[in-house]
Amino acid sequence: MQRELSAVAWHDDAPDPTRFTAAASEPLPTSVDWVVIGGGFSGLSAARRAAERGARVLLLEKGALRDGASSRNGGMAHVGFGASTSSIIKRFGMEGAREWLDLSRAAVRRVATLAGQGDASLMATTGIDAQWSGTGHVELTHSARGLPDLRAEADLRESLGLPVRLLDRSAVQQLTNSESFAGGLAVDEGGGVQPARLHAAMAAAAQAAGVEIREQTPATGILQIAGGYEVRTPRGSVRTQHIFGGVNGYADRLFPALRRRAIPVGSYMIATEPLAPELLAQVSGNGEMRFDTRNFLSYWRPTPDGRIAFGGRTSFWPDSLPRIARTLTARVREIHPQLASTRVTHAWGGRLSFALDRLPRVTRLDGVTHVSGCAGSGVALMTLLAEQTIDWELGGDPPLPARIAWQPVPVPYEGLPWFLPFAGIGFALEDWWNERR
Ligand SMILES: Cc1cc2nc3c(=O)[nH]c(=O)nc-3n(C[C@H](O)[C@H](O)[C@H](O)COP(=O)(O)OP(=O)(O)OC[C@H]3O[C@@H](n4cnc5c(N)ncnc54)[C@H](O)[C@@H]3O)c2cc1C
Repeated sequence: MQRELSAVAWHDDAPDPTRFTAAASEPLPTSVDWVVIGGGFSGLSAARRAAERGARVLLLEKGALRDGASSRNGGMAHVGFGASTSSIIKRFGMEGAREWLDLSRAAVRRVATLAGQGDASLMATTGIDAQWSGTGHVELTHSARGLPDLRAEADLRESLGLPVRLLDRSAVQQLTNSESFAGGLAVDEGGGVQPARLHAAMAAAAQAAGVEIREQTPATGILQIAGGYEVRTPRGSVRTQHIFGGVNGYADRLFPALRRRAIPVGSYMIATEPLAPELLAQVSGNGEMRFDTRNFLSYWRPTPDGRIAFGGRTSFWPDSLPRIARTLTARVREIHPQLASTRVTHAWGGRLSFALDRLPRVTRLDGVTHVSGCAGSGVALMTLLAEQTIDWELGGDPPLPARIAWQPVPVPYEGLPWFLPFAGIGFALEDWWNERR
């Protein structure tokens, strides 16, 4: 494992999106309609949409397109948010909650279309197969104490029109071939993508739509000028009417207002070597996306090339990748002792961001329209919200998350979440309490 630490398993089996970018040495255009900042799902999706609507678009990516979360996540396009259904109903009422759930379902359908194989897919235009699975997901509780919450959550989702299935201990054991879980909640809508392939397909589609994509070109300054903005980069400046921010967990000093609101957090993954077909079938059920209900979440799935990709949060303190990889390896083996002698070949991490209420946001701050705060549901949500945001700026309806305010975190804070380790102690205690015997 040591040799390949820091390698992203998805990257081994996907085109490098750099091939869809313009050479960094080429001069920047002097004036465009849109500058899009950030080359992940949200930036690429917004850029493509704006270009398809006839705009001249320049996308600036600070590093390489693959540096952000979009090509290194779990690839799970699942219905739901970081916030629980009960908290959404409490805040917005049943009708409001239905709107939020419908947004999530629409986002999942949008990714299924883009990553699938139909005429409207990215594969049809780019030839890159993002390997959509359509296998749904299952949420798993480790303890019988978690069952009432799961049951309540299932009832609420059903009452909002989402079909779900509750799984008792024996159904979950049969599905997972694991003794670790007391029950589960299955949602058949949604599924998985190979995220690096989807990301590359999005870059190819954006380029084909006319977007100029520049890697190694950070936006470093934004100046309001007559009729719009001037965006500064180390390679020159560009005038623009609109600015879209797709920086999510990677917001830098250019975005102080965003950094007072969005909380970045690391998430990490490992991947095993490809498994023998019988072993893969034993541990991956129907290929559904899986995650547990702990604060110190684990999520896992089979990959299209026959590995198990397993991710999670191990600590809110700074930690080293080798240590995190060891913890995740121990976790996957605890759930599936069948993998005790299976080699872990890859480990990597990335950053996502969340709002305190764990709902996504579309917010205008200092001249930039940001799509952010995905809380681990960004594969589907960021993709759709970015498109809706372009349509909004061009005169359409606001996306649902644009209707809620985003207040700064109510403590002195700007981008370095010093309070997370303390919150982490509370989360760990809550996990322990929920699973005590
Ligand atoms: C390990 C991991 C697993 C995850 N698993 C899942 C999952 O299974 N399902 C799910 O739905 N979500 C998951 N997520 C979250 C998901 O990956 C993100 O929500 C999504 O990729 C965010 O996309 P984005 O385009 O908004 O941001 P990113 O893909 O993070 O891209 C932001 C980009 O902005 C660039 N940038 C920042 N500042 C500047 C600047 N000044 N100038 C130019 N560029 C700049 C950065 O370099 C970066 O490339 C996971 C995240 C991680 C880290």
